[in-house]
Amino acid sequence: MIVMMKRDIAPLCDRHHGPMQLAQFGASNIALTFIAYKCLADSCLRAYQHGSGYVDIADFVSVEDGFRRDCPEDEMTMYLAEIDPNGTEVWCCGQLNCEYSEAVNPHERFGVMIRPIEVRNQEPSEKKPYSQLEAVGISNGARWIGPCQPWDVTLVLLSSFRQNSAQLVGVRSSLLEGTPAELVGRAAPLGVTEQQLMKAGLKRLRTKGIAIAS
Ligand SMILES: [Zn+2]
Ligand SMILES: [Zn+2]
Repeated sequence: MIVMMKRDIAPLCDRHHGPMQLAQFGASNIALTFIAYKCLADSCLRAYQHGSGYVDIADFVSVEDGFRRDCPEDEMTMYLAEIDPNGTEVWCCGQLNCEYSEAVNPHERFGVMIRPIEVRNQEPSEKKPYSQLEAVGISNGARWIGPCQPWDVTLVLLSSFRQNSAQLVGVRSSLLEGTPAELVGRAAPLGVTEQQLMKAGLKRLRTKGIAIAS
C-alpha cells in the first residue's frame, strides 16, 4: 500500500499532548528534506510522520525513542487525535481514506495467555513447544495476538514479563501437554501494559469482525 497521509489532520504530541504543526525538516542522516508534524512545545524534538509514527528529530532522525501505533485495517501509522477529560486517548489512522480510530486507555492492563500451536514434522522428543501469546484488556476486552514462535523465543518474552524459572517450567509443561497457560504475577493474574505487548510483538486485533487464523 502506498503511504498517503490525510490532509488537515491535527495530531497531538504523544509526549506533551500539545498541538503540532506541519514543518519542513532536513536531517543529516537522511538525504532528503521532508514534511512532518512538529510539536510546538519548546525544546521538544517530537514529530509525527505518517508511515513512521512518532520520532525524535534533531540533527538526526532518531527512531530509538520512536513510537508507532499501527492501524489494524491497513498497518499504517495512527496519530494521537484527542484526549478526553478522563484521560482516554483517541488515536486515528493517518492514511487517506481510512476511517479507523480507537480509544486507548493508557492505564489499561492486559492478561496474557500462551496458547500451544501444533507444528507438523516436529519430533516429540524435541520438547520445544511452539506457541502464540494472546492478551486481553482487563477493562476493555481489547484483544492482542502474537506470532507463532518456538520455545526459545517465547522463553525470552516470558522473562521480559518477569516470569520466574518455576513459572517458566510450568508454562512449558502446559504447552507440551497441549493446554494453554496463563501468565500470573506474584499474587494475582499478571497485568501487563500495552507497551510491553508491543515490544513483545503482539498486534491488536481489529474490534469488528475478529478473525484469528487457526
Ligand atoms: Zn512535545
Ligand atoms: Zn488505517
